[in-house]
Amino acid sequence: MLRLGHRPKRDMRVTTHVGLVARAFGASGMVIASVKDEAIIKRLKRVCEVWGRRDFMVMDGINPLDYIKSWKDSGGLVVHLTMYGLHIDDVIDTIRSLNKDILVIVGATKVPRVYYEISDYNVAVGHQPHSEVAALAVFLDRLYSGKELKLIYSDAKLYIEPSPREKRVIVRDQPR
Ligand code: SAM
Repeated sequence: MLRLGHRPKRDMRVTTHVGLVARAFGASGMVIASVKDEAIIKRLKRVCEVWGRRDFMVMDGINPLDYIKSWKDSGGLVVHLTMYGLHIDDVIDTIRSLNKDILVIVGATKVPRVYYEISDYNVAVGHQPHSEVAALAVFLDRLYSGKELKLIYSDAKLYIEPSPREKRVIVRDQPR
């Protein structure tokens, strides 16, 4: 997924949460457009180290338009999440059936017009303003039909055994 408009310090928590949702809900990486933010990369890598998915790719300071163009040139699909787009229920089956690598774009502040034009799909998770964290979570959940919520990564050092009352954390003997 591609995070536009990140403002270091101010967006630290939200952008970290965007990255955590991307990792936990089955995306393969997060690209932070334009600015560098080493602290976010460190936080996400730390989570991957313990809970798995060490191959989760995190990059910062990337030129977003160049990145999108090369994504499209290599056959990938670009989906921009915006409340102004087509309703998710009306497009998610088509997007899934295209079976392409998907670059999901979320904004922070006002997203420039060019991203609406360059994207293959502008998708609304409802037509109310809410949050990039929520929009990404719902989009990935619908894309993977809820299956991603059962993910336990094979290289996880820790995983959780569901319990009605207790915190049951299992330490893996030999994570991959
Ligand atoms: N005011 C900004 C604008 O007009 O573009 C949006 C700010 S919103 C806090 C940050 C991001 O959350 C948006 O760029 C979009 O990616 C996502 N978002 C918020 N509400 C959404 C919705 N209903 N559907 C899809 N994405 C949404």
